[in-house]
Amino acid sequence: MYKPWVIDGHCDSIGDYIQGKRTLKSGTEGGHWDLERAKAGGMALQIMACFIESEFKPDSSTRRGLELIHAVKRFVAENPDHVFMIHNQVDLNLLPNPNKLGLLLSVEGGEILGESLFMLDIIYELGVRALGLTWNQRNALADGAGEQTNSGLTRLGQNVIKRMNELGMVIDVSHLNEAGFYHVLELSNAPIIASHSCSYALCPHPRNLRDEQLKALARNHGIVGVNFYSRFLTEKGEGSLEHVVQHIAHIAEVAGVETIGIGSDFDGIDQAPRGLENAAKYPNLAEALLLAGFNKDEIEQIFFKNFRRLLGDVIK
Ligand SMILES: [Zn+2]
Repeated sequence: MYKPWVIDGHCDSIGDYIQGKRTLKSGTEGGHWDLERAKAGGMALQIMACFIESEFKPDSSTRRGLELIHAVKRFVAENPDHVFMIHNQVDLNLLPNPNKLGLLLSVEGGEILGESLFMLDIIYELGVRALGLTWNQRNALADGAGEQTNSGLTRLGQNVIKRMNELGMVIDVSHLNEAGFYHVLELSNAPIIASHSCSYALCPHPRNLRDEQLKALARNHGIVGVNFYSRFLTEKGEGSLEHVVQHIAHIAEVAGVETIGIGSDFDGIDQAPRGLENAAKYPNLAEALLLAGFNKDEIEQIFFKNFRRLLGDVIK
């Protein structure tokens, strides 16, 4: 079976881990993502999101964010033979490592910063290398995709972009509103990612990117990680592997293959698409893309090389 290496731009599995629901070691515990199924699926790197749940916002966001970072570190310490953290170029050069899965620590929600720029340096020192500026709501940095506003970044948000560029952190705009998306592109001197979003032209949802946004992302040498969530894949019914292929094909046409990555959103979505039920099923997507007319080099770009190139460009 054709099994290319995979970098996934977004999963929420640490949420189950911190709640004690799963150890994330084996597939028998349920959920979408764990070490066993990541290996079976050919995963080289997982960008592991620390999603700050709504009940902790705004007052306990920093505390909860740090607790989630600590949980990822506990998970790595428990599994030293199976995972390693990616902090710098030396670590990146170890990818793909056939024996160990790389993890890159990401925070989903600038709320973790409180309203203080110095917190960005603190979380960087803790190992965080990517930050989603907002979730769906407004915060001190910007407005999320769930707000009906036209505002760009606040002064603090603008300073965060500048400092992320200096530190070599990956800027994630997946949950940002449209005005914020363009504002980040205007300010950032490095490529950015929309770690887990789909095409608005195929499925008009505020979390998806319009064709103009995809083209702007391509000009920035950025990447969109295609999300597996049914509600972002199709307006009608349940999402499937074929829908994911359609979104990839559309983005390839509009913005080029080099702009596409994977952003599963595993364990952050209630139901994964038919044919892509969990992290072991990535080879199904590779086969489906071959059938849809993509060649192996293009599939390997989408699965691995594009994210690897971007991380190489951004991280120090
Ligand atoms: Zn998300």
